[in-house]
Amino acid sequence: MRRRYANSRAKQREEMLRELAADEAIYVISGKGHSRAAEAIEALRRIEDGTYGICVDCGMTIPPARLQVKPEATRCIACQTDYEHRSTVQRGDSNHVARRSA
Ligand SMILES: [Zn+2]
Repeated sequence: MRRRYANSRAKQREEMLRELAADEAIYVISGKGHSRAAEAIEALRRIEDGTYGICVDCGMTIPPARLQVKPEATRCIACQTDYEHRSTVQRGDSNHVARRSA
């Protein structure tokens, strides 16, 4: 019973991701808002791969609560914050690189 519940939830999430990917494809064509669609597409690929729910940066399991809120998440909260910070700052800051070995 438990497993079945988890399965239907996973399926629901997959559908959400598909919608997100399809929906945002329109924005990609018009040249804006590419990132969420790209993440959704990536997440779908990771479901097939069996690596869905694992942070691409640190390899830790992404908390299910986070995936529920943001099913396209490919990073845990810490790595996502780091990533967003890096892409906002956009200047090769060695402080962040040093953290990765942990
Ligand atoms: Zn991480």
